[in-house]
Amino acid sequence: MKICASISEARSACRDARANHRRVGLVPTMGALHEGHLSLVRAARAQCDVVAVSIFVNPTQFGPAEDLSKYPRQFERDCRLLEQEGVDILFAPSIEEMYPQGAISWVVVEGLSEKLDGRSRPGHFRGVTTVVAKLFHVIEPDAAYFGQKDAAQLAVIRRMVRDLDFPVEIVACPIVREADGLAMSSRNAYLNREERQRALVLQRSLQETQRQFQAGERSAARLISAAKEVFLSEPQVRLDYFEVVDPEMLDPVEHISGRTLVAVAAFVGTTRLIDNVVLEP
Ligand code: AMP
Repeated sequence: MKICASISEARSACRDARANHRRVGLVPTMGALHEGHLSLVRAARAQCDVVAVSIFVNPTQFGPAEDLSKYPRQFERDCRLLEQEGVDILFAPSIEEMYPQGAISWVVVEGLSEKLDGRSRPGHFRGVTTVVAKLFHVIEPDAAYFGQKDAAQLAVIRRMVRDLDFPVEIVACPIVREADGLAMSSRNAYLNREERQRALVLQRSLQETQRQFQAGERSAARLISAAKEVFLSEPQVRLDYFEVVDPEMLDPVEHISGRTLVAVAAFVGTTRLIDNVVLEP
């Protein structure tokens, strides 16, 4: 695995690969890798000739009161895992490399960026789209792999790619869960034992929604109120949002008649967790 810390090194490694008509796949991550990340790497490995992974804890997507400085960093372990998965190129730039002094340009997907997590985390998606656009320019991938776990992020990136004509196929990969159903996340490492148990309420609320949906319920308001009842069983967990929306524009849906995203975010202690499920009538 070639490890590149500079943009020019990563760009030339990927250009060499493309010159031989090989399909390049990119998996953007913030490191502290788990099976969720590795599932994206495996999908890329199965579909591409050259697999590039980026590890960059992107400061511009963290709010001033968020966990940038304590975000888990395990670079050596991550490298070993990526080697084992047969990754070809690891792009791991410094903050200075990605954001030259005085950088004032941003990529913003207006409107969409203020929904779901974007509402709770102002500026978050502006940071995400800016860094992903930069990664696309450096790696020039044919395909890029993202987790359905971050459903709003996926919608925002798909829209950016569509609106700005990035020649990249966006591939969404299913949510990977722990044995008890908790969606894997680097932030799960923040949870103590009690919180880890309480965190299951997110998954329980989505299961309740799925159960009612399968029983024929189509009213978003009734699904939401049943899910909120589930949260009453864990008063220590603070619900941020529970929404029923269309998966592309992330607008609330009243009556479910097509493919619909049910997304939840909640604070377990100080840790903000997200999860979602897609309903298909
Ligand atoms: P992060 O390192 O949290 O920025 O995540 C990097 C990529 O991994 C994003 O596309 C995430 O959606 C994806 N990802 C994170 N957790 C999971 C999971 N549990 N299942 C599938 N994909 C995931």
